[in-house]
Amino acid sequence: MRQKLVVGNWKMHGSRAQVRQLIEGVATGSAGLSNVEIAVGPTFLHIGLAAEICAGKGADHLKLAAQNLSAEPQGAFTGEVSAPMLAEYGVNYVIVGHSERREIFAETNQVVAAKFKAAQASGLIPILCVGESLAQRQAGTSAEVVLMQLNAVIEAAGIAALQSAVLAYEPLWAIGTGKTASKEQAQEIHRVLREHIAKSNTAIAQSIRILYGGSVKAANATELFSQADIDGGLVGGASLKAEEFVSICKSAD
Ligand code: PEP
Repeated sequence: MRQKLVVGNWKMHGSRAQVRQLIEGVATGSAGLSNVEIAVGPTFLHIGLAAEICAGKGADHLKLAAQNLSAEPQGAFTGEVSAPMLAEYGVNYVIVGHSERREIFAETNQVVAAKFKAAQASGLIPILCVGESLAQRQAGTSAEVVLMQLNAVIEAAGIAALQSAVLAYEPLWAIGTGKTASKEQAQEIHRVLREHIAKSNTAIAQSIRILYGGSVKAANATELFSQADIDGGLVGGASLKAEEFVSICKSAD
């Protein structure tokens, strides 16, 4: 039985005061939830603050997610943050291959795979994002695209590496657009991903959590999370409002 996971991706949002307010709201609102695992993903700059606020509130049930990392452990890489640094701050999860990193920052499948491996080398759990563009969906190549993205990581890290990883299916046309994939569209790609992994390792296919991301909100979370292969959500915009995010977490509990 896979425990559901809901991760908030705050992107480049939040002041210190907003981080405090948001974490306190999420910590209080989610305190009684026992079946869902919850992680919040502030900017690098706010991770230490977020960890302090969680500790101060006794909110050990809230995990920390970073939004990115360097593939290198240390060195002359101006502006980068490494996996060992994140681990030292108590980060549990790190998002790799988010479509905004792939598109805006030109991260290739090879870069994503290197970041995935770097995360695991420091004991962090990578959340590997895959997803197709609108044009690719319209061309009928959604499954092919996400499998190519997944295979790049499997080839670099090996199938066993998926044992301590999370996948997130995030169709680009649904991210930040308000257009959510229907539960059938999302389930179909999640099933394709799981069946693909099962061809190499059935135990990992059964245990790996596959999150859906793309305009998840309180109003659509329950139907998405009730699909057989959807194990929670990677939530952007709606994770910036404590009440809305808590309500999404409750749908997964
Ligand atoms: C995301 O950025 O991962 C995301 C899913 O964003 P949103 O929920 O705003 O579509």
